[in-house]
Amino acid sequence: MARSPRISLAEASRTSGGLLRRGDTAQDDPAHPPTLGDLTESLFFSPGDGRIWLQNQRMVLLHGAAFGHLRRELIDTLGVDKARGLLTRTGYLSGARDAELVRSRWPDGELLSVFLAGTRLHALEGVVKVTPLAVDFDKLRGTYEGEFRWEHSVEADEHLAAYGVGTECACWNQIGYAIGYVTTLLGQLVVFREVECRATGAAACRVIGRHAAAWGDVSEDLHHLHAQGFHSPAPRTRAAPGPLAPNEARATRTPGELVGASSSFHSACHQLARVAQTRATVLFTGESGVGKEAFARQLHATGPRASAPFVAVNCAAIPETLLESELFGVERGAFTGATSSRAGRFERADGGTLFLDEIATLSLTSQGKLLRALQEGEVERVGGSRTLRVDVRVVAATNVDLHEEVRAGRFREDLYYRLNVYPIHLPPLRERREDVPLLMDHFLRVESRRHARSPKGFTQRAMRAMMHYAFPGNIRELQNLIERGVISCDDGTAIDVPHMFRREQLPDELLLSVGTDGSLHREGPPARRLRDAVADALDGQPHPLHRIEQRLLRETLQLHGGNVAAAARELGLTRAQFAYRLRRGEQAPAPRRRQRKVEPDS
Ligand SMILES: [Zn+2]
Repeated sequence: MARSPRISLAEASRTSGGLLRRGDTAQDDPAHPPTLGDLTESLFFSPGDGRIWLQNQRMVLLHGAAFGHLRRELIDTLGVDKARGLLTRTGYLSGARDAELVRSRWPDGELLSVFLAGTRLHALEGVVKVTPLAVDFDKLRGTYEGEFRWEHSVEADEHLAAYGVGTECACWNQIGYAIGYVTTLLGQLVVFREVECRATGAAACRVIGRHAAAWGDVSEDLHHLHAQGFHSPAPRTRAAPGPLAPNEARATRTPGELVGASSSFHSACHQLARVAQTRATVLFTGESGVGKEAFARQLHATGPRASAPFVAVNCAAIPETLLESELFGVERGAFTGATSSRAGRFERADGGTLFLDEIATLSLTSQGKLLRALQEGEVERVGGSRTLRVDVRVVAATNVDLHEEVRAGRFREDLYYRLNVYPIHLPPLRERREDVPLLMDHFLRVESRRHARSPKGFTQRAMRAMMHYAFPGNIRELQNLIERGVISCDDGTAIDVPHMFRREQLPDELLLSVGTDGSLHREGPPARRLRDAVADALDGQPHPLHRIEQRLLRETLQLHGGNVAAAARELGLTRAQFAYRLRRGEQAPAPRRRQRKVEPDS
């Protein structure tokens, strides 16, 4: 994950008044953020696209019985010990993720509320109802002790259903969660143990969490966590991502602006890494704004030519008449205005990389000259007679289908094959939506620094809008939205939807969120009033009903290419009704602009 400076717990307690380096449950004020309401708001459903989000993390609604079945099969096939370890570690990951979520979303949250948020999230996620009996911690002395009552444990329910009352506590996954949550927040291993469990016939489960040192021997607990090497100070160097590397970066983060964790992004990065060390020509394809230049720069920076120049040319931005002199240089006196000799981009990129963006916009003439330069490794300045040898790695990019351009006769086939040695497709942002939060975090820091502003993250509403926005302009548009947000928002407050989006940009997808009363309700940008839309469409002119009707009839007819039957169908009218209304409108009192008579379908 893009790493932001974390507020340490000591700092967090300072920001909340400076006193709370110690805490116990008596000090718990349910009104301190994150409140149950705040946490509930973090959970939202997006029924149309098959996803559920907890803030920026994807969740899944699993049937309790299916969980029970999986758990039983694990025990039956792997044995109790292995199954228990697996479930404990899975729980640990959930707890660690929730702790990261709370810490990044509420960096200034009061320490005790932040700790107890884990109990509330665990309940919200439908796992167990947690009642804190005692929580006592002292950051300075490095101690933690907590005792909790667990009711409605789904794991105990399923264990009982499968095996009946036994002699061993059974809430392994939940113990893992508690360890993961508190350990991730505290940065030190806190071990939870279940001392009573419904699976052994108790009325409720009871768990105790303590600093590892306070327990004495925790080897049994660590065994289930696979926690070898936990105390090693460099968890990021672990070969395999173990459960006890809560701070491990979850995203690839390379120099430049390549930020993301999605599989399609990873796949492009993997291809990039593979080809960077060679001198192969690379062709980047993808929509505008997906970051083709950033990838090209990264290719250059990680390849053997990194110390030589990287020269970028946007072929679409240079007028055709100047393109040749831009690319290949010009000798003094070659044409009017060429008052001095000047090197072209090819020469300037000698030994390095030449990035040709929007390659498809080159004219056929320019394509021919480019091909010659590529084939012969030589360029000749405009008006010059010397040939200059250049050693350039060419990287090209296009947002159109070059193969299609070749078929249409607009692009030279030989140049196409010359460039298309190693194509890398960069996916549009809407296909790597899980990267949106990472990119938001990245550009929030970039733009805040650039404009010397200090907004406090994003509101829940803004987060939701971004997660559902289509981003036709891809990453560039996302960056623009955030830049606008950073500039429009006051320091110390969170960036909200109106800071970033103009009204007409607002996403209109169905967003359901869970209210604090447990009901699902629609939440999204306020629906635009029909009346306002009509006023806009008629340029604010007076709009009596018959004018609106005429406008609607005519526009619909136009959309259907003059086919009255089709237009009538769309408006729920018969062909005759449609024709009648249209005729009636033409006889109506003088509209300001006389519309052209529309012929019925031929
Ligand atoms: Zn239990």
